Amino acid sequence: MSGAYKYVFGPVPSRRLGRSLGVDLLPPKTCTMDCSYCQLGATTHAVAERGDFVPIAEVLDELDRWFGAGGEADHITLAGSGEPTLHLHFGNVFKWARDNTDIPSVLLTNGTLLYLPEVRASAALADKVKVTLSAWDEVSFQKIHRPARGITFDQLIEGEMKFRQEFEGELSVEVFIVDGLNSQVAHAKEIAEMVALMNPDRIDINTVVRPPTDQSAKAPPQDRLAELAKIFGPKAEVTASYKKQGFQTLEVSDEALLNLISRHPATCKQLAEEFNYPEEHMLRALSNMVAAGMLKAEQRGDEHYFFCR
Ligand code: SF4
Repeated sequence: MSGAYKYVFGPVPSRRLGRSLGVDLLPPKTCTMDCSYCQLGATTHAVAERGDFVPIAEVLDELDRWFGAGGEADHITLAGSGEPTLHLHFGNVFKWARDNTDIPSVLLTNGTLLYLPEVRASAALADKVKVTLSAWDEVSFQKIHRPARGITFDQLIEGEMKFRQEFEGELSVEVFIVDGLNSQVAHAKEIAEMVALMNPDRIDINTVVRPPTDQSAKAPPQDRLAELAKIFGPKAEVTASYKKQGFQTLEVSDEALLNLISRHPATCKQLAEEFNYPEEHMLRALSNMVAAGMLKAEQRGDEHYFFCR
């Protein structure tokens, strides 16, 4: 797609969602938490109060323009530079999707604001919602998620449980495992009990596969993750290590790469997989962008990651 888009990004290829068009309602990085494993960098605006962070009319205009220009997507997903439910009018994106397209909409939320009835009402306008539950009490919640003042574990659980009772769409729960923080079997069992009470449609077991905010946040060994996933029962699946397959090739352009990398720093191999594009060609494109000052490459562990400048 050509033309400048401020709030609409992607589409990001995803195994479950196909071509997922991202919509970002927040200035980076605005969130109710500052998770050690976050791939978006440190939370610079840690807030618990909702606001009108970007003009929603401009966001909807961009969606009009993107689809008006022939854009195609399989899902419209609220995600991006922080916690989308912080925006007072995030539900308008789902209303727009229903009124203007047949494309299902998706909300990716950390769940911290679902204790508010108005947030649950707006979230329920989405077709699919994914919430996070990676802690089992206030102490573990503070360690893993480093929430903004006013955000508590009890609120999180209350909100997610109530939302499950009210929401008729597809609900999934993401459990994000960080080695040494919540990777013990006993901890996974405690989280699994709460997830079971929520009775979601799916459980995604994820871990650190992109550069985290806190470089000490690490993934557990793969077999450990698989062992933990079993504790969550048959609805659980490890999503962190899947190999992408069968995506149609997406247009590779400086704009498309910047659009993605600004929200998901990535290795050349990951980008080649996401765009279904030969790795050596991807490396050439990325190297040109580094030479042009658009990107920088940094060593993290054994991998070179590309970041926006
Ligand atoms: S992982 Fe999600 S909830 Fe946690 S800091 Fe990043 S954007 Fe916020």
